[in-house]
Amino acid sequence: MIYSREFEVMPREDLEQLQIERLQATLNRVYRNVAFYKHVFDESNVAASEIRSLDDMRRLPFTSKDDLRRSYPYDMFAVPLRDVVRIHTTSGTTGKPIVMGYTKNDLSIWASLIARILTAAGITNNDFVQIAFPYGLTTAGFGFHYGAEKIGASVIPASTPDIQRQLLVMRDYKTTSLVSTPGYALHIASSLEELGIHPEELNLKTGLFGAEPWSENLRSEIERGLRIRAFDNYGLSEIIGPGVAFECDERSGLHINEDHFIAEVVDPESLEPMGPGERGELVFTTITKQGFPLIRYRTGDISTLIEEPCPCGRTLRRMERVSGRTDDMIIVEGINVFPSQVEEVLLQVEGTVPHYQLVLQRSAGIDVMELQVEIPENVPFGDEVKRLQDFQQTVKRHLDSALGISTRVVLLEPRSIDRSTGGKIRRVIDRREL
Ligand SMILES: [Zn+2]
Repeated sequence: MIYSREFEVMPREDLEQLQIERLQATLNRVYRNVAFYKHVFDESNVAASEIRSLDDMRRLPFTSKDDLRRSYPYDMFAVPLRDVVRIHTTSGTTGKPIVMGYTKNDLSIWASLIARILTAAGITNNDFVQIAFPYGLTTAGFGFHYGAEKIGASVIPASTPDIQRQLLVMRDYKTTSLVSTPGYALHIASSLEELGIHPEELNLKTGLFGAEPWSENLRSEIERGLRIRAFDNYGLSEIIGPGVAFECDERSGLHINEDHFIAEVVDPESLEPMGPGERGELVFTTITKQGFPLIRYRTGDISTLIEEPCPCGRTLRRMERVSGRTDDMIIVEGINVFPSQVEEVLLQVEGTVPHYQLVLQRSAGIDVMELQVEIPENVPFGDEVKRLQDFQQTVKRHLDSALGISTRVVLLEPRSIDRSTGGKIRRVIDRREL
């Protein structure tokens, strides 16, 4: 099912024309109304009128998270405060959060983008949609809420971290769709048994999960546990909140709402565009937002764009699911490596992610990456030597092929990796002298 047929299946040529028109209008607006953009456009010697194609966009300066922090709270707003009808912020666990302002029109677009996501997952006005995100300053709760109302679903704003209440609401109110983080969904699935509720007692059919990176393995685990079909979605508060990209029924990549956001993928080091299929940092430009428009915003999220058309008929380009953060990236022998790729491999081989650490060393000018993995506690060390060898070799084989470099895999006794920093393991130890 497609919610906005006019835009979701628009011929590429028309879509790109629409993007350019909307981009130009946005560039003019931010130049006039946001001191930061006037300054950086002038400084990089670029005028809005010179950006006539999507390729020209490369001349525009990037916007970073630090730029947004420095504008705290309202300096990036492009409309007078009287036109702002809603304020949200990033969760901002360290330092000041980033503050976003929405106009009435922004909220209406946001709701229609969420309506697209829900509709693509097969959710209709017959569904009971339970939203298990916090309703507060952050964007996910309210974002999904208004989109679900827009398609006429019965919305259950079950914004409680209390898993038992969450499950009772789910069972008694006959929830058919769960909207939450994948981690929370897994938590619900594993609490079912504990609370004596059989999955058959629930009416759940669909789950929409996002707001944190997750893997295909986690998807199957959640689907098995809750007996549902799970869909991924992607968004970030700075750009709008949830509603930036979503999975259709094919579930192979996420369609980007390109009539509202222009996506690019760049090398996080050189900031040069990556080639087709190459992973890099996602960069978004908003082209319809009034309150808080952003030009070439560096998300820190790692993904790649999929150029092939999707069998579902949507012409909106897809992105691969986010596979990590640029902050976690390490470069080994010129190859970008993310701890999330290692976790994916361990999950595939072992079914769970054991405690591990990546240790980097340089010997004779060559980088060596060693993966140190703790043997799960239920396998006594020294027991079943053959099994352990098999495990080690399988991990190495999968890892080498996933990363494209040769890794050394070392098995350690349970609880032998240092947890002195607050029980948490440092994932990467870089002993190279760079
Ligand atoms: Zn599709």
